[in-house]
Formats: sequence, C-alpha cells, structure tokens
Amino acid sequence: MKKKIVIIGSGFSSLAASAYLAKADHDVTIYEKNNTVGGRARQLKKEGFTFDIGPTWYWMPDVFERFFSDFDKKPSDYYELIKLNPAYSVYFGKQDVITIEDTLDKICAAFEKEEPGSSQKLKRFIAEAKDNYDIAIKDLVYRPGLSPFELVTPVTLKKLGQFFSTISKEVRKEFNNPRLISILEFPVLFLGAKPSDTPAFYSFMNYADFGLGTFHPKNGMYSVIQSMKTLVESLGVTITVGQTVEKITVEGNRASGIIVDSKKIPADIVLSGADYHHTETLLEPEFRQYSEAYWDKRTFAPSSLLFYVGFDTKLKNVDHHTLFFDVPFEAHVQDIYDTPKWPSEPLFYASFPSKTDPDAAPEGKETGIFLIPLAPGLEDTPELRSQYFDIIMNRFEKLTHQQAKKYVIFKESFCVNDFIEAYNSYKGNAYGLANTLLQTAFLRPKLKSKKVKGLFFTGQLSVPGPGVPPSLISGKLVSGLIQKETTS
Ligand SMILES: Cc1cc2nc3c(=O)[nH]c(=O)nc-3n(C[C@H](O)[C@H](O)[C@H](O)COP(=O)(O)OP(=O)(O)OC[C@H]3O[C@@H](n4cnc5c(N)ncnc54)[C@H](O)[C@@H]3O)c2cc1C
Repeated sequence: MKKKIVIIGSGFSSLAASAYLAKADHDVTIYEKNNTVGGRARQLKKEGFTFDIGPTWYWMPDVFERFFSDFDKKPSDYYELIKLNPAYSVYFGKQDVITIEDTLDKICAAFEKEEPGSSQKLKRFIAEAKDNYDIAIKDLVYRPGLSPFELVTPVTLKKLGQFFSTISKEVRKEFNNPRLISILEFPVLFLGAKPSDTPAFYSFMNYADFGLGTFHPKNGMYSVIQSMKTLVESLGVTITVGQTVEKITVEGNRASGIIVDSKKIPADIVLSGADYHHTETLLEPEFRQYSEAYWDKRTFAPSSLLFYVGFDTKLKNVDHHTLFFDVPFEAHVQDIYDTPKWPSEPLFYASFPSKTDPDAAPEGKETGIFLIPLAPGLEDTPELRSQYFDIIMNRFEKLTHQQAKKYVIFKESFCVNDFIEAYNSYKGNAYGLANTLLQTAFLRPKLKSKKVKGLFFTGQLSVPGPGVPPSLISGKLVSGLIQKETTS
C-alpha cells in the first residue's frame, strides 16, 4: 500500500530511511529546516577552503557498503575512499607522539616500543574486539530495540560478563602505560560516554579503529551526504530545504501530518530524524512519551567547541587526524560528565583534510578543524570561544614546534548555541544520546511512538545510537518498522 510519508530533517538517518521507504514504493518528502541537506554533517566552504562541519572520521566501512548494497550500489559508485596512513597520531607532549598506522602489525610494533610485552596482549584484545564487532555490528545493531530479548542470543550469553565490566577496567587489566590506555579508551568516546561507564563489550570500537582502519572519502564526509542525496532522489524522494516543521498534527491517536510555514501538509506516516527531544516538543503535551525530567536524567554525548581555520601555510608535524592528549585525560572527562564545566586543561582534536585531499585548501595553504569536547548545556559566549582558541593554539604551537596563529587567514567557530540554533539540539549536544549500559538498544528512546500511531523517530538519540554508521542503521531499522505497519 503506497503511503504518503513526510520526514523531518535530512541527516544521515533521515536520508537512509527515505531511501528504504522510497524503494518500498512510498511517496516520500523530506522537510529540512536548514538550506542544505546533511544535518550535523554539512559542509563549510570559504575562500577556497573546504571543511566538514561535523563528522570527519569514516569508520566501519562495511556498514556503508551494506547500506549501498541494499540499493545494488557500492560506495565506489559515488565517492573515492582513501585509507589513511597513518590513521592518526597522538601528542602526549612536546615532540612526543605515538603514531597509529594502518595495520594491526604496525600498531603492535608501536605498542611494543612503549610497553614491552604489550603487542601480544593487544593482539588478544583486538581478537576479542573483532569477535564483539561480528556480533554487535553485523547482527545486534540491526535489531530495532523493541525488547530486551533481542539481545539474548547464545553468543551474547557467553559474553554476559562483558556487559557488566567496563572498557576502562578491561584495558587496565592488560596495559599499564597510561599513553596506551588513553589510546585504547579513545574509540569509545565516539559512543558519547566515558570509558568507565561503557560496557567492555563495546570494545568492538577498538576493532573498528585498529582492525578496520580510518578512511577519508575524497572531498570529505559531505561527499557521502551528496551521494545519498543523489541516491534517494533517483529513488523518487522529494527533498525540500529551508522548511522548518512547526508542528506534528494528530487526529484521534494518529499522526495526520505536519505544519510548515503555517500550512498543513497531510501525511499517512510522520517520521522525524530531528533530535528526539525537539520532535516531541512539536506535539501537544499529551502525545509526548518522555518528560523533561526523563531527558534531564539521560547521559548525553558531549557538545563541542569547533573552529574551522584557513591557514596561509602548510603545517608541519601533524597528520590528517591528530589528537592532543598532553593534559590529563580523566580530568577533562570529569569536566564533561561529572561536574560539567569548561575544562581547565582541554584535550583537543585537530583534523587537516588538506594533508590528504589537495582540493580541500588552496595551494600552499592548510585547512584545519579543531574540536574541544564539552559538557552539553554550558554557557557559550564569544569571549569563552576566543579564550579557548588561544589556549589550544598556544599548546598547538609548542607541541608541534611551529608558528600557526600568525598564519590564520580566518576562523569560524561553532559551539553549544549553534548546535541549538542549527539543529534544535537538546542542550546543544553534538552527537546525541550516549551509549551506556542503561541507554542501550531497548533502553533507548523508541523508534516508534507508544502514544501516536503512524509517528516514528530515527537518528542518534534513538536506536542504535550516535555516529554516522549507527545513523545509517537507524534509518534502515525505522523503515523496517514502518513497512511492517503499512503492510499489516
Ligand atoms: C562535531 C561533530 C563531530 C562528529 N564526528 C563524527 C565522526 O567523526 N564520525 C562519526 O561517525 N560520527 C561523528 N559525529 C556524529 C554524526 O555526525 C551524527 O551521529 C550523525 O550525523 C547524526 O545524524 P542524524 O540523522 O541522527 O541527525 P542530524 O544530522 O542532526 O539531522 C537532523 C536534521 O533535522 C533537522 N531539523 C531539526 N529540527 C527540524 C525542524 N523542526 N524542521 C525541519 N528540520 C529540522 C536538522 O536541521 C538536521 O538537519 C559527529 C558529530 C558532530 C556534531
């Protein structure tokens, strides 16, 4: 039965869902408030420099392949994928860097140099992580979070202990060197929670990191968004931008459409890929499933202070992805999760896509993206942004042994207030609701409304969680639930 389906937002999850729904022959229209598609994964172009505004790490290439193969396509039909070597490097002090290369053997050699005996332990740790990856990413995350029994399988029962231990504990059992410990704890930060709150089972992120590697789509992550736009339009999806959804209408207990520009757009099914909390505010209070107190008690993934900088020089001693872990890891993590405040000594991440992609910057210049993770909901002022830019630039210059600030042609910033303004993000979170034990699968906000028939949700605040690959999967899961409802 062909249904009229309206989708709120055009992030990865909405685009993915629209593709499956159009393929199932529904009449699908996307309404996006911003003037370009992609949500958190939009692009900034300025004075010949190109920046990904949000995601920069392309991990889990198999998930992208699986998505495109559902439409008889391959990523290479749309974009060129470059495996990065080194994958990234990590600064722990002045000219004190650990480089993570592109194969496990090379990474083992780097570990062995730091801590004799650690390479064998790393091989065992990654073998277990691969096992978890095969269970989680190839199977469990493709279950829609309807019931706890989805997670109970003969293989997960064998791994039960890993749901009650944490990544932090498991890493510390095997490794003593604090630098290796922070490198092994880093990947789970993508899940949005602190490593001491993340189940050990989530070591599949370490396999994604060391086992599968880090990739860069030529022209940036935005080229994946552009590919998906091309794909969904070829399937018949209509995309409208600059269209803010003001309300979701309900008649009886059924979603009947949306209001855009004060005009009613009728629909059989409403699917929202906008932030879950915001979507519920588009409903009359009696149709909302989760209270303000519920949202306030959740663990959100961090917000961020980002800078997009055009440099009038090529920078030395940095790789495409460079992490600055020269200050205590735990103290910054506490400033995000335990006692939310601006960090006294921020860890930060920098990305220089023009190291790989000459088109990302004019000749002889460098494109730099800097990110400081922050607690959501913090005060955000121009003075704070500028103060933190100086803090990280001073450290950057000392650690990488070069002048950088005097080469800044321009810098644009993006922080808590922009996340709220641009995406209607709850407390300005950057990447959704964290994946902790109590916020996993069936314990996350549901893909299907319990109160309103024909109303569905997708994206990083729902199932399975934050990140680009999970957002693609979220779109597939919700379209499956919609298909089930429309054919029953
Ligand atoms: C700074 C940053 C760095 C990141 N780094 C990585 C990374 O390296 N690798 C990785 O895998 N992931 C990363 N992520 C996470 C990843 O980008 C997200 O998980 C993913 O893009 C979320 O997609 P989504 O579909 O859930 O939502 P979104 O991208 O947020 O899309 C929601 C859309 O809904 C629209 N919208 C909101 N309200 C309305 C309304 N009322 N009417 C119409 N439209 C509306 C918004 O404008 C937006 O376009 C990062 C995120 C950020 C912010």
